[in-house]
Amino acid sequence: MFDPIQVRQDFPMLRQGKTMQGHPLVYLDNASTTFKPDCVIEAMNRYYMDETSNSHRGDYDLCYNADRRIESARHAVAEFLGAEDKEIVFTAGTTESINLVAYGYGLKFLKPGDEILLSVAEHASNMMPWFRIAELTGARIAYIPLEDGKITVEGLRKSLNEKTKIVAIAYVGNVLGYVAPVKEMAKIIHESGALFLVDGAQAVPHLAIDAKDLDCDFLAFSGHKMCGPTGIGVLYGKYENLCKMDPFLTGGGMNVKFSKDATSVCLPPPMKYEAGTLNIAGIYGLEAAVKYLASIGMDNIRAHEESLKRYAIEELKKTNMVTIYNEDAPSGIVTFNIHGVFAQDAATLLNSKGIACRSGQHCAKVLPEELGTVATVRASFYLYTTKGEIDALVEAVKKGGDFLDAYF
Ligand code: PLP
Repeated sequence: MFDPIQVRQDFPMLRQGKTMQGHPLVYLDNASTTFKPDCVIEAMNRYYMDETSNSHRGDYDLCYNADRRIESARHAVAEFLGAEDKEIVFTAGTTESINLVAYGYGLKFLKPGDEILLSVAEHASNMMPWFRIAELTGARIAYIPLEDGKITVEGLRKSLNEKTKIVAIAYVGNVLGYVAPVKEMAKIIHESGALFLVDGAQAVPHLAIDAKDLDCDFLAFSGHKMCGPTGIGVLYGKYENLCKMDPFLTGGGMNVKFSKDATSVCLPPPMKYEAGTLNIAGIYGLEAAVKYLASIGMDNIRAHEESLKRYAIEELKKTNMVTIYNEDAPSGIVTFNIHGVFAQDAATLLNSKGIACRSGQHCAKVLPEELGTVATVRASFYLYTTKGEIDALVEAVKKGGDFLDAYF
């Protein structure tokens, strides 16, 4: 097991004694984005300070070096996921990865009457692209019913039918942090002949993943939620699917040739989906991030987050001042409300004590109906979160009482 106090020394945002509202900064919004360790910042700086060049476009050493670095990063990401290099497409993040599948696969293959199966707990980025594709193709959106906020195999079985062509759900939900049984789901979905896209934005940063073992068709995730840079992400796709799909973006870098008669020939995947100049600094940074996380150990990170979660639940419950919506979720996300305090007011109160938490609907705007509340506060942990930070959260929640006294 690693020592989170030691780990904090790797992060400039954590070791420089930053304050917010005059209090030591307590950053509990890691489901939104994470801090970056030195190795990630250094890797990006190396590109800008010492190795700047475009990739796949030049016949000189600097350019060959960028090509080599990109392929080395692709290999590092593939290894991290138990995938093959040719199955790793660099994108801008989860949102772009899901749009790529929606437009590249959905638009090409879906027909009127086909069904796209989602859950009401999905993030906007795993709902809106499908709404658009349904509108464009005449396909229908259907939902797997949740059981106490969770996606279950039984719920999936009830919802699948011969019309279901694509199932797209989050491995770990970004509001409640429940972990979907994706391996069992993949088997059932494939038996019914549909494809399975897994939104891994909240999973890949926190769980050991073996894409081949999960057997999903696509897995989308973002670098910035896993100690990497913003603006870089990945679409993992089984190679046969990547071969069948159409590109979502076209242009330089992804074609073999194009002619005046408006015909063109694409490069094979993954380059087929990497049009335009890539986020090369982001790719350098992402490689450093996956190597950093692998060196800490994904099982260690998960165990640390789960133990923090148990501690947070215990301590928050002792206050008798909160409703917790996801007590049994096995991840580092605690979603709650302080009795009598609107979620956004609660987040403002926490801010006044130096604590950064997300509040509102967390981009999952259909889920609150299911939870019976319009908004929640979300505290989300990562490898550098400490018990002391949870104590600070609990103390600030207790101050919620003072907040109420001031108004009533
Ligand atoms: N899916 C889930 C489950 C998320 O939590 C997020 C971001 O919060 C996204 C998709 C979108 O990620 P990005 O904004 O990095 O594209």
